[in-house]
Amino acid sequence: MNFSSKILEEAVNQVSQLPGIGKRTALRLVLHLMRQPANQTDVLSQALTNMRHDLKFCKNCHNVSDVDICEICASHNRDKTIVCVVEDIRDVMAIENTSQYRGLYHVLGGKISPMDGIGPQDLNIKSLIQRIQNDGVQELIFALSPTIEGDTTNFYIFKQLNGLEVNTSTIARGIAVGDELEFADEVTLGRSILHRVPYENSLKN
Ligand SMILES: [Zn+2]
Repeated sequence: MNFSSKILEEAVNQVSQLPGIGKRTALRLVLHLMRQPANQTDVLSQALTNMRHDLKFCKNCHNVSDVDICEICASHNRDKTIVCVVEDIRDVMAIENTSQYRGLYHVLGGKISPMDGIGPQDLNIKSLIQRIQNDGVQELIFALSPTIEGDTTNFYIFKQLNGLEVNTSTIARGIAVGDELEFADEVTLGRSILHRVPYENSLKN
């Protein structure tokens, strides 16, 4: 692409760094912004800057938050004896959208995946065990995607619970194997949480 302006070229180059955005799309987006009032670009830049610098992760559950303890953990209307274990914040959003779950979450930040060099120590597993030991958690719901990595992670955590008094369950697999939680429709996902099954049962299948 030949640019008559280095400034334009730099803007296009930066936008095209985003996943799924090629040079042509980047150019289209930049030209769109050029046609908008200047303050619109300022607002966009500021929103991105704030997101990168001011966004925090909840000290309790590792969900994204504007403050140290997220809204869900801080709420008096949530059942603090139940913790739903999820892979990332998109899963929290998906489950919250169902309005069927009133417990808390624990965001692992990924799944155990030796192929990708991700081991248990790279995930928020230690803090999960600490919560179970200290916070009166009575039930843990595994809601990781039904993949080999998801199953491996569930099993690893299950083994770490040895000696702790906590029930474990897994969301009912109304969701087809291979589907990610965030793509499951709200009704199906909501139902699969309500009809969760004891984790030990899922091991026998
Ligand atoms: Zn939280």
